[in-house]
This record gives sequence, C-alpha cells and structure tokens, in this order.
Amino acid sequence: MHVDVPAKVEEIYAEVLRRNPGEAEFHQAVHEVLESLAVVLGRHSEYAEMKTIERICEPERQIIFRVPWQDDSGEVQINRGFRVEFNSALGPYKGGLRFHPSVNLGIVKFLGFEQIFKNALTGMPIGGGKGGSDFDPKGRSDAEVMRFCQSFMTELYRHLGEYTDVPAGDIGVGAREIGYLFGQYKRITNRYESGVITGKGLGWGGALVRTEATGYGAAFFADAMMRARGESFDGRRVVISGSGNVAVYGIEKVHQLGGTVVACSDSSGYVVDEKGIDLEVLKQVKEVERARISVYAERVDGASFVADGSIWDVPCEVAIPSATQNELDGAAARTLVGNGCRYVVEGANMPATPEAVDVFRAAGIGFAPGKAANAGGVATSALEMQQNASRDRWTFDHSEAKLEEIMRGIHARCHETAEEYGSPGDLVLGANVAGFLQVAEAVHAHGLI
Ligand code: NAP
Repeated sequence: MHVDVPAKVEEIYAEVLRRNPGEAEFHQAVHEVLESLAVVLGRHSEYAEMKTIERICEPERQIIFRVPWQDDSGEVQINRGFRVEFNSALGPYKGGLRFHPSVNLGIVKFLGFEQIFKNALTGMPIGGGKGGSDFDPKGRSDAEVMRFCQSFMTELYRHLGEYTDVPAGDIGVGAREIGYLFGQYKRITNRYESGVITGKGLGWGGALVRTEATGYGAAFFADAMMRARGESFDGRRVVISGSGNVAVYGIEKVHQLGGTVVACSDSSGYVVDEKGIDLEVLKQVKEVERARISVYAERVDGASFVADGSIWDVPCEVAIPSATQNELDGAAARTLVGNGCRYVVEGANMPATPEAVDVFRAAGIGFAPGKAANAGGVATSALEMQQNASRDRWTFDHSEAKLEEIMRGIHARCHETAEEYGSPGDLVLGANVAGFLQVAEAVHAHGLI
C-alpha cells in the first residue's frame, strides 16, 4: 500500500481535532507526537493500513463521575472526577491522579496520552492512563481532604485493580492523599491489594526512592545528556521551577551531582538564592508547613522573593521546568537562550510550549522532553509494584541504582533512535519514535481490538 505520509499525518490530526473539540492541551500533545511519526509511517505502511496511530489516539475508556463531599462547615461541595484509561497494550493502565482546580478532560487526556509513550520508554510492563479532579486541596483541612478522597475512591474503586488500572500521585496528590485513597479502596473491597496504587507510605507497602524518583530521574537524565556532549553538572548554575515533589528532589540530586540550583518557585512567585537553595529549609517550608515559597526568603539570609515575573529571567546554564504544563513560553525560551542556557530538561509534563521548543531547537541547545526525562517516577512505581507482588522490600541504594540504570537506558534509547531515524541529537523525535514503536508493535500483535 502506498502512503502519502504528510497527508496521512494531517488527516489523523484533523480527525483528532474534530472529535475532541476544545481540548487544547490534548491537541498539543498529539500534534507533538504526530510530527515525529511521519518517519515511522514512511517505513511501516502496516501501521497506516491498520490505523494504529488513530487507535492509539483514542482512549480505550474514559470515566467521568460526580464527587460529592461535605466541608468542615457542613456545606455540600461537588467536584468532578476523571480517569482516562488510554492504552493497555503493554500492561495495566498506569498513571497518576492530579487534584488541581484547572483539571478538565482535555488536561487528563493530554497527560494520559503522554503517559503511554513514557511508560513504554521505561521498558516496564505498564500501559498508560491518568486521572484526577478539579478539587483544590490547598487550604483544606486534613479531614476535608480525607472526605474528598473517600468519596472519589467510592466511585473509582470499581475501575481499578493490580492487573487493570494502577493510579499514583501527581500535582496535589502526595503521600497523604494516597493514604486516604488506599484506605477507602481496602475498606470497600475488603482486600489488601498493595499493587493497586503506588506512592504508598514506607510502612505499608511503599517503596524506597519512589518519593525522590521523578526529580532524581530528571537529574540523572540531564547528566546523561551532558555526558553525551562531554560535559557534566560540575559547577553549573541551574534553575528549577516549582517546589513540589519533582522540584525538591531534582534540586537534591543536582546538588549531589555538583550543580548549584539558584532559584525555584511556586504559583505565587520565585526565590533566588545565589549560594544554592538550602534544601533543609525548603523541605520544612513546602513539605512540613505547606507554606508559600516567600517564607523561604524570610528564613534564609541573602535569599530574595520575586512575586511577579518569570523565573526564566534568572540566568542559568541548565533549566529544569518542574511545575506544570506550558509554564515556559517562547519569550521565556529566548531569554534563557540569550542568557547562555545550554540545556533544558522537562521535569514536568509538557512545561515548554511548542514555540519554546522551536527556539531551543533553533539555538541547538540540548532539550529533553518530559516523557523521557521525568519517566523515573513511573519507572519506580513499577518497581514498587514488583516489590508488592513478590512481598519484597529493596534497599534505598539498590532502588536508586535501578532508577539510574533505567534513566541512562532511556537516554541511550532516545539518542540512538534519533540517529537511526535521521535526526541525531533530537531527543523529542527519539522519545516519540522509540515509545511509539514499542506500543505499536503490541497493539498490532493483539489484533483489531
Ligand atoms: P506538586 O508536588 O503538586 O508540585 C507542583 C509545583 O508546581 C508546586 O510548586 C506548585 O505551586 C507548582 N504549580 C502547579 N501548578 C502551577 C501553575 N498552574 N502555575 C504555577 N505553578 C504551578 O506536583 P509534582 O508531583 O511535583 O508535579 C509537577 C509536574 O511534574 C507536573 O507536570 C506533573 O505532571 C509532573 N510529573 C510528576 C511526577 C511525580 O512523580 N510526582 C512524575 C512525572 C511527572 P503551588 O503549590 O503554588 O500550586
């Protein structure tokens, strides 16, 4: 069968736009992957014939549900819950839950779609899914968060299972929320099914290094990228946006690898600390007190807080955006490049806009897409599932060594695939093509389902 590849890719994208109206983030994520897949269709006409890409762009199942709960004043609150079970070609659906007021179906679908390829890149037997709610845990008491989580799980539990769908945390869902969610699952099902959720507490089925995994993994990936160019973190100025799970542990590992992180942020602004972010203070402020980032600057001599403006104005050689999608636009990218930035590594999912990615490519600087660079979290979740299944518990050092091996392996795979498909150094293409090929082969093998 002869395939007019550019026309085919256009046709697939037009159909995605038509049947998913108003889902801008999902369109963006699909477009970025499709751009890379033209080279694959040119070599594999069977994927055009069997509409493999079209099938991967359509979630296997989408669940949307009401989440009613009562706040501390007795007022009834209604939120919306989502779980998009996107693709199970490689294993049970796997991907986090996000609790943030911005959550809608388009955002959950973009995250679920990215997750398919990310999970494939880890080499672990996990499919792709994502979920969440427009619930905002910020400013809510522990009791309110617990009631919300219990109501959310009261619907979601029927769709989960260690061989079916295994959620984890994401923005707004950390150890506290995972505890309440697991507790309600256990209560309803009367089963202590450890492998049904990851990111659990260390005393009840959790795995060492899961908390650190995404941030550590992004730093290992950045290190592998620099080494491929004969460089390292040693003595480099680094900026990491966000101050949540990914950012905090990204900072920790960058410091261990010899770099200095001079700025981090939250949605209220950013702090600059030229001596290097003091992790002990940062963890106390963000993890223990759940306070705003300005409190860091109040406690650390010489640190300053900037309420408005962009963290990307702070000059650095390595930027690791680790807050949220589309937080780094074209203008910020030009500022970074103008200030001498040489590497951009996505700790968050899709934090750089398409225009920003174009700026980085044109400038020839190293750019790592999130689906490769932040895969350490889900890879370690799969290690948690392995430990749960074998009723085993690995040491911190063993788990960290595994994580490092996986991240360096993902880098090598993206790097080699980019070369094989004629775009050396283009890790976006390398990640999309390598992830897609693995999923497509399994989709193809399973027949028309
Ligand atoms: P988190 O612990 O909730 O932290 C998120 C951080 O980003 C917070 O500092 C938050 O500030 C900031 N942020 C969130 N939304 C923002 C917005 N709209 N504007 C500005 N700042 C915003 O979440 P996380 O787990 O670190 O996740 C961060 C990113 O990494 C997300 O894109 C997530 O999908 C991705 N990711 C996470 C994992 C994981 O294992 N956790 C794995 C892979 C990818 P505020 O507190 O002020 O909102």
